[in-house]
Amino acid sequence: MQQVTRAWFDEVMVPTYAPAEFVPVRGLGSRLWDQQGREYIDLAGGIAVNALGHCHPALVHTLVSQGQKLWHVSNWMTNEPVLRLARKLVDATFADRAFFCNSGAEANEAALKLARRYAHETHGPQKDQIIAFSHGFHGRTFFTVSVGGQAAYSDGFGPKPGQITHVPYNDIEALKAVISGRTCAVVMEPMQGEGGVLPADPAFARAVRELCDAHDALLIMDEVQTGMGRTGHLFGYMALGVEPDILTSAKALGSGFPIGAMLTRNAIAAVFKPGVHGTTFGGNPLACAVAETAFDLINQPALLKGVLERETWFREALAGINAQYHCFEQVRGAGLLIGAVLTADYQGKAKAFVDAGIQAGVLVLVAGGNVVRFAPALNLTRKEFEVGMARFAEAVAQVCQG
Ligand SMILES: *Cc1c(COP(=O)(O)O)cnc(C)c1O
Repeated sequence: MQQVTRAWFDEVMVPTYAPAEFVPVRGLGSRLWDQQGREYIDLAGGIAVNALGHCHPALVHTLVSQGQKLWHVSNWMTNEPVLRLARKLVDATFADRAFFCNSGAEANEAALKLARRYAHETHGPQKDQIIAFSHGFHGRTFFTVSVGGQAAYSDGFGPKPGQITHVPYNDIEALKAVISGRTCAVVMEPMQGEGGVLPADPAFARAVRELCDAHDALLIMDEVQTGMGRTGHLFGYMALGVEPDILTSAKALGSGFPIGAMLTRNAIAAVFKPGVHGTTFGGNPLACAVAETAFDLINQPALLKGVLERETWFREALAGINAQYHCFEQVRGAGLLIGAVLTADYQGKAKAFVDAGIQAGVLVLVAGGNVVRFAPALNLTRKEFEVGMARFAEAVAQVCQG
């Protein structure tokens, strides 16, 4: 076979993405190497997925040992890893029960279907309105893009699912104006990730909970990006002091192995009787075994505290860079989901910082056109951080002086 090159992408892949020009072939901790052996410090973490870095030895061990035992049996049999993982997730959260799938979009698809079915059975078919927030992101299935707050992602695919209302995030009055007895669910991210690393105001989150209670609507928290330690808490809702009725998780849940989960309470879960919803791969032993090991490593006070310490590393370093280049209007976020919001001079130029980062040997992300996003491994070492940030400073110099 010939040498694989990046050029193949443009020949054989459906062009849903426009990937970077280099092809990574190996990773360890927060370092990646490409086909030419060039090293990158990874401050992007596979978009908030590789919470324990690349090739964490405990995850590799679980993957190999479970791989030698049992991969897949389908859902007409259960298995030990799925039951252990479910037990750990419900013990650590507000929830009583878990449903497993393979991605964030599928977890949200399950949550939205569950909220509709629950309202249908407990109140009747007229209770069907879903309220979501502008610039929210919930995945790419047709239901989840329609609930997501960017019409550009859902337009052009024919008739959309109905009874979905969008209101501005962090705007209590706007929500009050549209919520009613017809509302079956409000869907929110505790911090908008793709939408620009925008945290929910705690007073707003509390008001959302109160309005849901007043109108018998379920509160769905999409924690696909904010969950599994990302904000320094196991889940983002824990810092807001507001419990959801349904929570979705994916991304870091398998720390790189595909898995999603939906968590909820007994009374709501009860409407998903056998046959109402499902997925072939959901809860398979291989994914669940890896996720269980990831959970054991992440749900540790020392690791979660370390996330908050690392947040201060980033805030200090970014303030230092900004003192020199004045390119950030604000640095926001929580834990290791951090957004550097660009000033008016750099509007729409976030991608230029990512490209300059690649040239300098550091991987960062955008969150929309105006925010440079960092979502590194939660166990990023001080050394990896220092090398990565020095390279990011070079990238900023390149963009701001070049
Ligand atoms: C990434 C993301 C999703 C979609 O997850 P997929 O695994 O890509 O389907 C949904 N919600 C939020 C908040 C996300 O960040």
